[in-house]
Amino acid sequence: MKILGMEKSSFIDYPNKVATVCFTPGCNFRCGYCHNSYMVKEEGEEISQEEVFAFLRKRKKFIDAVCISGGEPTLQKGLYAFILKIKQEGFYVKLDTNGTSPDTIALLLQNKLLDYIAMDIKAPFDRYEFVARTKVDIEAIKKSITIIKNSTIDYEFRTTVCKELHSKEDILEIAAYLKGSKAYFIQNFRDGETVLIGKNQFHPQDIKVLEEIEKEIRGYFESFKIRK
Ligand code: SF4
Repeated sequence: MKILGMEKSSFIDYPNKVATVCFTPGCNFRCGYCHNSYMVKEEGEEISQEEVFAFLRKRKKFIDAVCISGGEPTLQKGLYAFILKIKQEGFYVKLDTNGTSPDTIALLLQNKLLDYIAMDIKAPFDRYEFVARTKVDIEAIKKSITIIKNSTIDYEFRTTVCKELHSKEDILEIAAYLKGSKAYFIQNFRDGETVLIGKNQFHPQDIKVLEEIEKEIRGYFESFKIRK
C-alpha cells in the first residue's frame, strides 16, 4: 500500500466531517482533465503508514474520517489491511474510486469497512474509453454502480464536466442511467497547472447549460448539486 501524499485536514472531502485525505499513486485511467497528474504519474515522496497513523492518533480529537483518494486506490494491494486498521482506530472511511474494481468495493462493503463512497462516472458508456483515454471494462463499471446503489452506506456518483468532452445530452444520458441513486454531483472543470494533458486544453461547461441540465433532472436523485 503506497501513500504518496496526505492532506492533513480537509473540510470538503467528506460531507459534514473533518477528514485526512491519503492519496495513492497510479491509475488505470488517463482522463485528460485529471487534476492529480502527479499521482497518476506516480511522482512525489512516499509517506509511510506509520507516519499516517502517528498523525491520526495525535489529532484524533479533531479528525473524524480518512478519505482514500488517488490515483485509483483500488489498485493498491494493501488497501484492505490499511482500511481495516483505520477502522480499528475508530475513524470513518471514505473511498474515492473510478469503479474499475467492483470486487474490491464489494469486499470492503461486505466487511463494513466503508462509510462513504464517491465514484466517478466519466461519460456515457459508449464514450467512456474516449474520456478515460484507455480501454475500459464497461461491465465492471456497471457492476460497481449497482453494488454502490444497493449498499446501505452513503455514497455519491459524480462527473467532472468539460465543454470539450461532455455535451448536455451526455450528462442527461448519465443522469438517466443513475436515476434513483442517492446522490449525483456535477463538478465543473477547473483549469490548472496540474491538469494531466496540460493547461488551456479544456474549459468548464457553460453555467447556463448546467442549469438547464439541473432543471431537466430535478427529482432524479435524493441529492443533486452542481459544484461550480
Ligand atoms: S481523474 Fe481519476 S480516474 Fe481519471 S486519471 Fe485522474 S485519478 Fe485516474
